[in-house]
Order: sequence, then C-alpha cells, then structure tokens
Amino acid sequence: MFTTDFFQEDPRLAGQRRRLIDELKRKGISSVRVLEAVGKVPRQLFFPRDFEQYVYRDAAFPIGEGQTISQPYTVAFQTELLQIQPGDKVLEIGTGSGYQAAVLSAMGAQVFSVELVKSLLQEAGKVLKNIDSSIQLFHGDGTLGLQSAAPFDGILVTAGAPEVPQTYINQLKIGGRLVIPVGPDKNQQKMMRITKISDQQIKSEVLGDFKFVPLIGKNGWL
Ligand code: SAH
Repeated sequence: MFTTDFFQEDPRLAGQRRRLIDELKRKGISSVRVLEAVGKVPRQLFFPRDFEQYVYRDAAFPIGEGQTISQPYTVAFQTELLQIQPGDKVLEIGTGSGYQAAVLSAMGAQVFSVELVKSLLQEAGKVLKNIDSSIQLFHGDGTLGLQSAAPFDGILVTAGAPEVPQTYINQLKIGGRLVIPVGPDKNQQKMMRITKISDQQIKSEVLGDFKFVPLIGKNGWL
C-alpha cells in the first residue's frame, strides 16, 4: 500500500507541487486519478540533494550514471495512457530514480520494475521500500520483460526502444496496454500505445514526440 506517512514535508515544496499539477492540467493531462497520484508523490525523495529548487520544474533532471528522472509531464502522460485500475499488475522498465514506480503505486497498481544499472536500483529501493513495501524491484535486462511475473495489465517502458519488442506483447494480458517510446533515432521517439486485443491481434496508436535515454539490451539498442 502506498503511503508517505513516514515523511515530514517542507510546506513550500508541497505548494510548488500543487502548482505543478495546475501546469500539467494546462498541458493537457486530464485524468483526475493521474493528477491526484502525481499530487501524492514527493518528487524531492527521488531527486539529487542540493538541487531542491529544480524539483517541481516540469523538466527531466540528471540522477547520475548518465540517466535522468523523467519530466513530470512525461510521467503523467505515460501513466494516463496506461489506463490503470486499482489492483492492476504493472511492469515498469527502467526504474531509474524510482519516481515513476511511486506514481504507479499511488494509482493503486501492483508494481514490478526492472533496472539495468544496479547502483540506481539500490538508491531507488531505499526510498521505495518506505513508500510501498509491495513494489518489487529487479536487476537485469528489462528488454526481456519479466516472464516470472507475467502476464501484466500494463507495461510501461521509460527508455527509448529502436522498435517494439514482441516479448512485451507476449507478456500482456488480453486487453493489456504497452506504453513505449519508439524510434530509429537513439535520442528521439514517438510515444506508442499498443493494446493486446487477442493473441493474434493488437491495436497501435502513435501519440506524440518525446526524448528518452536509450533502452539498452538484447531487444533494445545493443
Ligand atoms: N522511470 C525513471 C526514469 C528512467 S530513465 C524515473 O522515474 O526516474 C531510463 C532508465 O532506463 C535508466 O535508469 C536506464 O538505466 C534504464 N534502462 C535502460 N535500458 C534498460 C534495460 N534494458 N532494462 C532495464 N532498465 C534499462
């Protein structure tokens, strides 16, 4: 269960988060449940110390190891596309800071998250275990999905893939959604949502331009 009861928040930062939610609304995020979830997660817990003044800007930020914490708009947009119901099983690829995993947990999802860089996973784990002890973190190549916990209601990829790995579609339930940035350029992608209609049929939607760090691995960039 998601909680932030362990954390005493600086009221100034709480105020900045409320203004960020207004900004996300203006930018087109309309799901009340998504806005509420983003409103519940203190982003400063996942942010490098000493850079507090940037926490509630709507921008990505470096977290070390050449990786970034995603832009709040992007987190909200991808979460909205996933159409999560409480209790849904969701796989995130690219734990990074852990922020997106916390937002998924605040949506009531049962969260599984895979990260390639061990040091990032360890840092994220320290925060996430307080937020929701049921979040399950895995170290490894997320381009293989997570067969041991499949099938999922949703799979959310937070790094840019050269193409859509079939593995993810195989690990979705019928009716499940895959949200993934895809593109032939390593640093520029189109957001795609793939819905598994049946074992033989998918529906694909292309939903705007984004910039993610590359998804590295067997079914990603080599
Ligand atoms: N979701 C993160 C943002 C992550 S940035 C957040 O909320 O902060 C993308 C992450 O994907 C990076 O941490 C990178 O190390 C990771 N990554 C790249 N390729 C991966 C792979 N094959 N499997 C798992 N993680 C991967």
